[in-house]
Amino acid sequence: MRKCSLEKLDSVFAEIANSFKLYLPVDDKDGKAKYSEWAEGVKWSNALNTVRSPKDFFFPQTEDLMGFKCSGKNIEIIDTRNESEDFVVFGVRACDVKSFDILDRVFLKDPVDSYYSNRRDHGIIISVACTRPAETCFCHTFGIDPTEPAGDISVWKTDSEVFWQSNTEKGAALLEKLQALTEECDADAVNDQKEKVSAIMKKLPLAGLTADKFGAGKTKELFDAPEWDSLSEACLGCGTCTFICPTCQCYDIKDFNTGKGVVRFRCWDSCMYSEFTKMSAGQPRLTQKERFRQRFMHKLVYYPENNDGLFSCVGCGRCLAKCPISMNIVKVMKTIGGKENE
Ligand code: SF4
Ligand code: SF4
Repeated sequence: MRKCSLEKLDSVFAEIANSFKLYLPVDDKDGKAKYSEWAEGVKWSNALNTVRSPKDFFFPQTEDLMGFKCSGKNIEIIDTRNESEDFVVFGVRACDVKSFDILDRVFLKDPVDSYYSNRRDHGIIISVACTRPAETCFCHTFGIDPTEPAGDISVWKTDSEVFWQSNTEKGAALLEKLQALTEECDADAVNDQKEKVSAIMKKLPLAGLTADKFGAGKTKELFDAPEWDSLSEACLGCGTCTFICPTCQCYDIKDFNTGKGVVRFRCWDSCMYSEFTKMSAGQPRLTQKERFRQRFMHKLVYYPENNDGLFSCVGCGRCLAKCPISMNIVKVMKTIGGKENE
């Protein structure tokens, strides 16, 4: 493990930015943290959650897949990729780091999504351990430890120092570049912080929330639960919950004629939308109840069914804060999951 003083953090950012594009959470004028590119004078926001999750770096909201130019009977295919440079994302929380494992199982499964995999290959993740978990946090429900975030490098920040630990070859190579700005140290201060934060986690309102009632093999038991009616009744189908969610990964692919050729692009879609997966044969989920149920059954039952029990929620709490009708996955888990979760 290595450390540097907090005052040196900007110098560390400058050193990283000498070799890579560096992105980190920065407060906007309304005090909301959003990922921005670092430059001299840009200040890292230690806010718990960014408004949008870092999934954007690997699975952007819109991206061009390819272009076509037609002349007569000839079609020229144009490669529109530009993901060739390594980049660093600093300040990723443990829950959001875990979301990459969930996305990897979708996009890196055969057939591999080369757009996503290119970005994963080029991205270096520096996580930061949480010190002030919020009342909406429930990452522990899914086995995530906010004091021990994964990533290529893990960082712990105290009042006066920043501790760095590499976890992968990519992380070790980057930390090597920071040798002159950091020094070897023991983990005592980090261990103290971990104990304090773990004690806070045990007192959070959602400390007792478990996913025991969900998981692989629960489709039959939960699909027809009468509670879906009342839970979904007020859902506006706005899709906010899916767009802010670090693990949601539905998308649509469309062609757009620019006048100079056709661009094929993909953009995020939402299972909460009435037109989602609509085909010539019709719409597979006709009611908002069916769409609502799909989102939560996918996260809590279908995804684990197909992915060795791994849930497709990381307990980041974004949907608890952002749904306009205050509906969220915790309410679903408490209502469908029975009294012991209340
Ligand atoms: S659950 Fe909330 S955020 Fe999600 S689609 Fe319904 S109203 Fe919108
Ligand atoms: S469902 Fe909600 S709490 Fe779970 S990962 Fe998505 S936004 Fe976060």
